[in-house]
Amino acid sequence: MTATLITPGLAGAPSEVDVVVIGLGVTGAGVALDAVTRGLSVLAVDAHDLAFGTSRWSSKLVHGGLRYLAHGQVGVAHESAVERGLLMEVTAPHLTHATPMLIPLTPSVSAYLAGKTRAALTAGDLLRRGARTSRETLPGPRRISATEALTLAPGLRPGGLRGGLLSWDGQLEDDARLVTTIARTAASYGAHVRTHARALSATGTTVQLRDELTGGTTTVTARTVVNATGVWAGDLVEEVRLRPSRGTHLVLRAGTLPGLRVAVAPPVPGESNRFSLVMPQPDGTIYVGLTDEPVGTEIPDVPTPSEPEIGFLLDVVSAAFARDLRRSDVVGAYAGLRPLLDTRDGSTADLSRRHAVLTSASGVVTIVGGKLTTYRRMAEDVLDTALATNGIDAGPCRTRTLAIAGAASRDQLARLELPARLVRRYGTDAELVLASAREVSGLPDDDLLAPVAEHIPVTLAELLFGVTHEGAADVEDLLDRRTRIGLIPEDRDLARPAAERALALALTRR
Ligand SMILES: Cc1cc2nc3c(=O)[nH]c(=O)nc-3n(C[C@H](O)[C@H](O)[C@H](O)COP(=O)(O)OP(=O)(O)OC[C@H]3O[C@@H](n4cnc5c(N)ncnc54)[C@H](O)[C@@H]3O)c2cc1C
Repeated sequence: MTATLITPGLAGAPSEVDVVVIGLGVTGAGVALDAVTRGLSVLAVDAHDLAFGTSRWSSKLVHGGLRYLAHGQVGVAHESAVERGLLMEVTAPHLTHATPMLIPLTPSVSAYLAGKTRAALTAGDLLRRGARTSRETLPGPRRISATEALTLAPGLRPGGLRGGLLSWDGQLEDDARLVTTIARTAASYGAHVRTHARALSATGTTVQLRDELTGGTTTVTARTVVNATGVWAGDLVEEVRLRPSRGTHLVLRAGTLPGLRVAVAPPVPGESNRFSLVMPQPDGTIYVGLTDEPVGTEIPDVPTPSEPEIGFLLDVVSAAFARDLRRSDVVGAYAGLRPLLDTRDGSTADLSRRHAVLTSASGVVTIVGGKLTTYRRMAEDVLDTALATNGIDAGPCRTRTLAIAGAASRDQLARLELPARLVRRYGTDAELVLASAREVSGLPDDDLLAPVAEHIPVTLAELLFGVTHEGAADVEDLLDRRTRIGLIPEDRDLARPAAERALALALTRR
């Protein structure tokens, strides 16, 4: 039998620990890893699943902080650049890669805006240098000709194209995979990581939990409690009042804009300094983002993109690309919520740039806002506060140099003689994924490594590993979080039998 390191439900969970972490998005997973590697006992829970919330709805970029410079937030920009460098060079090279980004100099980009943008990209490169991230990891920006721009993005409208500005930033293989891998790493150090376990209420030293599989409730005592429930943070701590805004992305098949080799940032027509993003993904899709729409006070479990947002994004892309995109080109769409913090004076503070750590009257320490890119630093900050407030002795934070499961240098990864897709998603653990799939299923490699359906590069080996090592409890966990097949509803239907087969094969062996 293969050990399951992340477990659905609360059976056998400890009733007393040093730290309870509520929420297993990137922030909570990061807090669990930081706490357990400081030598503390940890119980980390999520009401649904790993990466159920905002963490799976991002643009999947590892930002260098350039946009914060425009707001004069040099410290925040530097922090983002430092964390980007750590992710790409130390903690998760296997799950990140450099992505080229092209700003096409179309007729709607004035010479003034082009000059200003070029200066900003140069400042972004200075941020990279200030963060000591090597040029090999992220090459510098440059101006390119119209011919080169059209080679990198053949679908661009050629008429009036004066060239482009090419720069580099970090991109994640998959945001939910980052969360899963951080959580699996925390579990490998001894953290109890439980999905389908909801916190009903919390104080600074107790958490009432409900096992969502059985309906049973239990109370856990802790020396400190960290609330990392993202936009739902106010449900547990009444002092935290959030008013989110929605950001929507479209999913297109790669064939819709054939030959696209770079991410393209087309200018939004009629706006002087706003760009959208068209981003090719490693799995044969393209994401198009991003909108910013206020939502009401009711926060849905899964936000839904609106038709006007979808229409807006289609129009922006159609203005820059020769092909007029139609609604039927959109094979999927998703939305995530950014937290805006209601402040005492009635205004709102945007927490998407800098995170906030808030200690409630009952002692719950809440961490909210920030970015996927800065999750490690956020975890360090909230634990430093939680431990100091409660006088808890622990070792120093170790996560700056702690490689997450499967990480290795890019040279080492390139030398692995294992299926490229598995190496991209599991790094050096690709071997473990394959070995455990063989053991659990008794199937030959041809079956385990074949795409589960046409257009869908995901393999049965990955689905099996999702159940045996990553706590997937049902088809949704497998299709929507351990893999991202569910982003395209048509593909989800095609892949459902493979997910059911993986669950049947793996669970009979548990
Ligand atoms: C549209 C959009 C695009 C973005 N793009 C990027 C990007 O490209 N790069 C980047 O660095 N950042 C990006 N961000 C920011 C980043 O996605 C978020 O900052 C980050 O994912 C927030 O993670 P979190 O763990 O704090 O919250 P979440 O991921 O929302 O996690 C909270 C978890 O808490 C759980 N939960 C809630 N209530 C309870 C309860 N009572 N008991 C137990 N569990 C509970 C939920 O199920 C959920 O899994 C983007 C954000 C948005 C909105």
